[in-house]
Amino acid sequence: SAMAGQGRVVILGAGESGVGAAKLAQAKGFDVFVSDFGIIADKYKSALEKLNVPFESAQHTEALILNATEVIKSPGIPSTAPIVKKLVAQGTPVISEIEFAKRYTTAKTICITGSNGKSTTSLLTYHILKNAGLNVGLAGNIGHSFAAQVAEENYDYYVLEISSFMLDDMFEFKADIAVLLNITPDHLDRYDYKMENYVASKMRIVQNQTADDVFIYCADDEESIKAVAAFQPVAKTFPFSITRKIEPGAYLEAQTITILLEPNKELTMSILSDLALQGKHNIYNSMASGIVAKVLELRNETIRESMGNFKNIEHRLEHVAKISGIDFINDSKATNVNSTWYALESMTADVVLIMGGVDKGNDYNMLKDLVKSKVKAIVCLGKDNKRIHDAFEDDVEIIVNTFSADEATQIAFHLAKRGDAVLLSPACASFDLFKSYEDRGNQFKAAVREL
Ligand code: ADP
Repeated sequence: SAMAGQGRVVILGAGESGVGAAKLAQAKGFDVFVSDFGIIADKYKSALEKLNVPFESAQHTEALILNATEVIKSPGIPSTAPIVKKLVAQGTPVISEIEFAKRYTTAKTICITGSNGKSTTSLLTYHILKNAGLNVGLAGNIGHSFAAQVAEENYDYYVLEISSFMLDDMFEFKADIAVLLNITPDHLDRYDYKMENYVASKMRIVQNQTADDVFIYCADDEESIKAVAAFQPVAKTFPFSITRKIEPGAYLEAQTITILLEPNKELTMSILSDLALQGKHNIYNSMASGIVAKVLELRNETIRESMGNFKNIEHRLEHVAKISGIDFINDSKATNVNSTWYALESMTADVVLIMGGVDKGNDYNMLKDLVKSKVKAIVCLGKDNKRIHDAFEDDVEIIVNTFSADEATQIAFHLAKRGDAVLLSPACASFDLFKSYEDRGNQFKAAVREL
């Protein structure tokens, strides 16, 4: 319902989602104020200036915030921030930009969450829908504000990448199609170090759904199975699995994905010849996207063609170059152990693994078997990676203390021989040596091109 704005909307955080929310709130006639406790990036500052929306940076002025009728909080701000606690204590609603934007669009939403694979699956789903000729937008955690698009565009469908931080501030929101890829420990620092809190956050993806809606999840994922049993989603549910036959749903048999939601309407795809995305984790991602496409009754031909010509964005198992018969692969986006596990799992060659960075309390044990069977050497790229050294010193050669992408890449190149792969899949955050995982991936790629 496109209600005209009444009252004062205060937006905390002036990044992509905050500035998008400001644009929409202003378009809807609210009195808008933006407050960021840090330094606002130039691009967002000039966007706010252009909108003529009042804002402050490097402070939260309580007198300008506590009088809000509603507050839109950026996902990066924890609920424990003092200003948020004050707002909550006085009963001011604090919501996410996604919750706010959804009020102003009747478009169907396809919402994709999970600990890993969100961006890939969102992009793939968007690619298929767009190829099929649907009028579709892509927004959310992927880096484009949902609110900004609702203010500017008139899409019939949105593919939304949804993080747990967004879900925490979503209340009335309903996903027409919800996808839960997996749940593995991540961001526990924001959930009182309790897995159950993180799981509950992820399961908000099904809140407010009815029997007419759709819920898609991975039936091979331990935590997801437990969560589904505990939360009992009421929507039409389609699981996917690569270990057993599931109907209705999606499964893998003889290297072929079958998606069958209704009798006699199956879609089959060879994982060897039909899919642009390779690796076991991408079979899951492809199944999830494929189910969405079938729910929307897209043609099998279109789905297969789109799965075949999809190009993923940078930094996810991205093939950089082949030099002296050695493949260089950039998986800088692997910032937790689970995603590195999948990267190694997908490797067919012997691997020189570049890993390390800021350790978020990682348990490296789950990599042990794969490291033993596939990795010939590890090069640590990070300020302090003693824990990686200690975890694998008995298994493979380890070089610790490399402090630049250049150095790590050159050492890895010397350790590798024809037919091997050099894989950057850090399992750690990048902030000790780099600005971001993108910066880390770009520096790695530049170093490879220098070889
Ligand atoms: P997200 O957006 O959730 O962080 P991405 O699609 O950007 O996920 O992928 C991040 C990394 O996680 C990839 O580099 C890949 O190694 C790994 N990954 C991708 N999909 C999955 C999956 N379904 N299960 C486990 N790991 C995955």
